[in-house]
Amino acid sequence: MRGPQWMDNGMSHIWLPYTQMKTVLPPLPAVSTSGCDIHLADGRVLTDGIASWWTACHGYNHPHICDAVSAQLSRMPHVMFGGLVHEPALTLATRLAGMLPGDLERVFFTDSGSVAVEVAIKIAIQYWINRGVSGRNRLLAFRGGYHGDTLATMAVCDPEEGMHALFNGVLPQHYIVDLPRDQMTLQRLESRLSESGDEIAAILVEPLIQGAGGMLFHDPMVLRHLRTLADRYGILLIFDEIFTGFGRTGTMFACQQADVVPDIMTLSKALTAGTMPLAATVTRTHVFEAFLSDNPLHALMHGPTFMANPLACACANASLDLFETQPRLQQVRQIGAQMAHELAACRHLPNVRDVRVMGAVGVVELETIADMNRLKAALIALGVWIRPFRTIIYLTPSFTIRPDELSRLTDAIRRVIAQGAAGKEAAS
Ligand SMILES: *Cc1c(COP(=O)(O)O)cnc(C)c1O
Repeated sequence: MRGPQWMDNGMSHIWLPYTQMKTVLPPLPAVSTSGCDIHLADGRVLTDGIASWWTACHGYNHPHICDAVSAQLSRMPHVMFGGLVHEPALTLATRLAGMLPGDLERVFFTDSGSVAVEVAIKIAIQYWINRGVSGRNRLLAFRGGYHGDTLATMAVCDPEEGMHALFNGVLPQHYIVDLPRDQMTLQRLESRLSESGDEIAAILVEPLIQGAGGMLFHDPMVLRHLRTLADRYGILLIFDEIFTGFGRTGTMFACQQADVVPDIMTLSKALTAGTMPLAATVTRTHVFEAFLSDNPLHALMHGPTFMANPLACACANASLDLFETQPRLQQVRQIGAQMAHELAACRHLPNVRDVRVMGAVGVVELETIADMNRLKAALIALGVWIRPFRTIIYLTPSFTIRPDELSRLTDAIRRVIAQGAAGKEAAS
């Protein structure tokens, strides 16, 4: 089947993400979206199980968000944020500060999650420099973690995960350790901190769910241990809520389930409900105050050209309206309950290692996925857009998904596993 002309022309000029371009199978041409559907050029419609990399929390083309963008588009699509401010950004900062726990009050806007994490790292290191403390320039992060693809953020991802392994010799060295899930790992972390604590600027973690590292869950207690240890050793604590923020784990922010307030938090992904690129790095008052100084070098020297883009901030404000007026967290609970019930049917299928659900995240972990391309094709043949990676097949649907659409997704997962589509046999 031939694709549209723009695809025939463009495929020899485009460079795709995370893709070996030598052997890439043709990607699918998407032409429009609506609700939880992705419409393809040949007329097929796929039910989206992953909300476009976890962003489209209110479904696609939500009229309230589209209206907000249109209104902002005719008023002022963009203006630089140096020396100028505007209503969408300042209103958004005020609203985020009001929603976030504790004194997470000061918001720095950027245009992608990786950059928000870079800014968090930069703030954490400079925090100590500004306070006259030298030598605290390393991060402590965790195995299974993922914080972005830029150079600084690659260095705080799981080093064995493979995605960035080629760069090992080039990256700055940080401490990557096991999450303190039990007495042994907690003690190991504590002894690491008592040895090297005075080199560490901040502890960095994805709270409750390590997303791109494999949808690995941990208990809120882990986060309380990290807060206690960070306080004991005088280290900053950064929560990367780029995946978990905005309801995904069942509360508006994952940190609320542990009752822990980090010193710095990063947000992106669902911040604009998947409509425009935007990210935020939010700090507590004491962090911000370390940058208030008569020394001009003590300012935060960062300023992406498109930071606080008004269209993106207008989207984010419209998304927050929907969280205020619609029963989103209740929908998350219902989605979680339905996924837990329906995915449980996978538990006894061959090749299934684990089935787990938290909030609106449902995961079927397999022993192996021998032929990833075959598995992806089998899912598409069933009319669903689900992107397995490593050994997991997961769902992170829009919170507005209907029960029958969700059943279609869970049913597709159960069927491809039952068919053995993830296995090696049956050359098709
Ligand atoms: C996706 C993600 C990032 C990186 O965000 P980009 O917008 O892709 O740069 C960082 N941290 C977490 C937890 C993420 O899920």
